[in-house]
Amino acid sequence: MNSPVYQTVIVSGGFAELFTALHLAHEHYSRSVILIDKDQRFCFKPLLYEYFDGEMYTSQVVPHFWNYLKVVESSLCKIECNR
Ligand SMILES: Cc1cc2nc3c(=O)[nH]c(=O)nc-3n(C[C@H](O)[C@H](O)[C@H](O)COP(=O)(O)OP(=O)(O)OC[C@H]3O[C@@H](n4cnc5c(N)ncnc54)[C@H](O)[C@@H]3O)c2cc1C
Repeated sequence: MNSPVYQTVIVSGGFAELFTALHLAHEHYSRSVILIDKDQRFCFKPLLYEYFDGEMYTSQVVPHFWNYLKVVESSLCKIECNR
């Protein structure tokens, strides 16, 4: 089975990486892009205090990456960013 070859690989889905992926998708970046994270969810750390206090929900503070981009493999969370 052939695995797709990606021209751009973003390692981890922290702030900078997720927003880079979203920016590239928004700008219709011409090369194939994949973002790889060990988790399935983005963690919006500045809101963790409110989350653990019960003021905010899981979906607001640690949303699934699939809310933003297309997840193509979920064991190690691989996300195609521009397809
Ligand atoms: C409670 C709290 C409140 C904060 N408040 C603020 C604030 O108000 N303002 C501010 O500017 N900063 C704040 N920060 C700091 C800010 O959250 C961090 O500076 C920022 O998240 C760092 O971004 P990062 O991308 O380096 O790391 P992270 O956001 O930690 O992202 C790292 C990513 O790498 C992934 N990863 C780790 N290991 C692997 C691996 N082996 N393979 C694949 N993926 C991996 C993780 O799953 C994660 O998605 C706060 C931090 C905390 C903890």
